[in-house]
Amino acid sequence: MSDDAETLFERIIAGEIPADVVYSDDTTFAFRDIRPQARVHVLVVPKKRYRNVAELAAADPQLLADVAKTAEKVAELEGIKESGYRVVFNTDSDAGQTVFHVHAHVLGGEQLGLFGR
Ligand code: 5GP
Repeated sequence: MSDDAETLFERIIAGEIPADVVYSDDTTFAFRDIRPQARVHVLVVPKKRYRNVAELAAADPQLLADVAKTAEKVAELEGIKESGYRVVFNTDSDAGQTVFHVHAHVLGGEQLGLFGR
């Protein structure tokens, strides 16, 4: 993991790297994934960096709740709250985590496939 990978989302939050921002508030930030895996694919991050969802939950449960609420807010803004959506936290290598600033993938806008390879 390079330093760049560690700080990528912090640089996006700071506006140093352009992103298609969907929502922002005091504690969370949401922007479109650069390589969307569904019609709607938005990443929700806490502005404060933790490595993964377990570290976030242990250190700051309220901030994890904020991320969950922002995921619902994004679904509302994207018009997929009623049809349903998926929230995913990839954790470490077998799950394919590439950015070690915890982020929720919010996916929807179409019928999603089942889990698996
Ligand atoms: P992970 O694989 O860590 O769960 O998810 C990282 C996500 O960040 C990937 O889906 C990837 O497409 C997305 N991503 C990587 N670099 C950028 C970037 O510079 N801008 C945006 N908007 N998304 C990025």
